[in-house]
Amino acid sequence: MGILHSGQCQCGKITYDITGDPITVHACHCKECQKRTGSAFGISMPISKDKITIRGELKSFERVADSGFKLIQFFCPNCGNPIYGEVERRPNALTLFPGTLDDTNWFRLDRMIWTCSAQAWYELPEEIEKLDKNVDYDC
Ligand SMILES: [Zn+2]
Ligand SMILES: [Zn+2]
Repeated sequence: MGILHSGQCQCGKITYDITGDPITVHACHCKECQKRTGSAFGISMPISKDKITIRGELKSFERVADSGFKLIQFFCPNCGNPIYGEVERRPNALTLFPGTLDDTNWFRLDRMIWTCSAQAWYELPEEIEKLDKNVDYDC
C-alpha cells in the first residue's frame, strides 16, 4: 500500500508513514492529555499497527489509564515530542498524536471526550459529539 501521510517529531529524529485510514479521531480534554500536550486538549488518532511505520528510537513512559488498563506513551528522546501511545486493551492498534503529522488538514474530529475537565475558557463546538468522560479509549 502506498504512503498516504507522513509525520515527524519536532527535531526530525523520529519519522513515520501512514498507509491506511485511522480508526477514529478524537480530542481529549482529560488532565493527562492536557499535561502531555501542555495545552487545552490532546488529539488522539487510533490506527491499526499494520497501517503505520515508525522510524527512529523512542523512549517510553508507562502509566495506568482511568479505565485501569495500562498505557505506554512513546516520545522522541531528543526533543521530547510525544508521538503515540499503546493501550493494553487494544493491542493491535496504536494511538497516534496527530499534531505530529506534516499535514493536519485531511482529518476531522469524530468527537470530544472528557469534556468534564475542559478548560473554562474553551468553548466546545456545537456540531461535534461530546462525551463527559471516555469509556472506549484509554488516553
Ligand atoms: Zn525529536
Ligand atoms: Zn485524554
